[in-house]
Amino acid sequence: MSVGMLGKRGLYGFFLLLMILSAGCTTNNSVKVGIESNFRPFTYTEAGEGKGFEVELWQAIAEKANLKYELIPMEYRELNEAVKSGKVDLAIAGMTINNARKEKFAFSDPYFQTGLVILTASDNETIKTEDDLAGKVVATRLGSTAYTYTGDIKGIKEIRGFPSITEAYDQLKDKKVDAVVFDERNAHDFIQKSGDGKVKIVGEMLNKESYGVVSKKRNQYIGRVNLGIEAVVKDGTYAALYKKWFGSEPSKLPGE
Ligand code: GLN
Repeated sequence: MSVGMLGKRGLYGFFLLLMILSAGCTTNNSVKVGIESNFRPFTYTEAGEGKGFEVELWQAIAEKANLKYELIPMEYRELNEAVKSGKVDLAIAGMTINNARKEKFAFSDPYFQTGLVILTASDNETIKTEDDLAGKVVATRLGSTAYTYTGDIKGIKEIRGFPSITEAYDQLKDKKVDAVVFDERNAHDFIQKSGDGKVKIVGEMLNKESYGVVSKKRNQYIGRVNLGIEAVVKDGTYAALYKKWFGSEPSKLPGE
């Protein structure tokens, strides 16, 4: 064997080592994942700890994708900026995938199908559909898809946008507004846990929305996250978590 050969092997070995080391680095660096502190039952904080369907779903996805991570809870209004500035690498926070947002952000494959609903006071007999919102005062969360959707409904008297959805719900409980429009599952959760029988959901879902994990357009994670989502659907983890948090089997699995 010539010295030249050994040299080549040595070089090959060196690059192999470099590759192993750099692969190790990407898995060891922890990914900063933004969650929302008040979007039950998806992500919320209780005694400083991140909880919810999405927190547990993310844990399972991250395991499959071999991603170490750190959860960073924040307010809804801070999430977009945190993703843009790189304060977080990803966010999982009931973020609806839509075309306007796709211009600025990258989204994973959808992992949850849902939509918006109308809430009114329990004794309200006049509001049944979105047409009945004409001339009415409607509250929702500032910057949310519900805020945009409500803005397109004709004839609404006033839209009150609140940074925290709890404020919008409280206004409805106190009958300071006629209705709230917001994400269906969050609305259900509110009615069950804090509605005190004062609030109800009326009519059908207004539209169809899907949630996705969001990141900067140029990112190194979404591909792996998608593989993780596929894997947790395949091995039954998704259905088990769905049942745990929503009390029934999902009618359709992500990707179906
Ligand atoms: N799905 C809604 C949106 O993307 C609300 C999300 C939230 O409040 N966390 O705007």
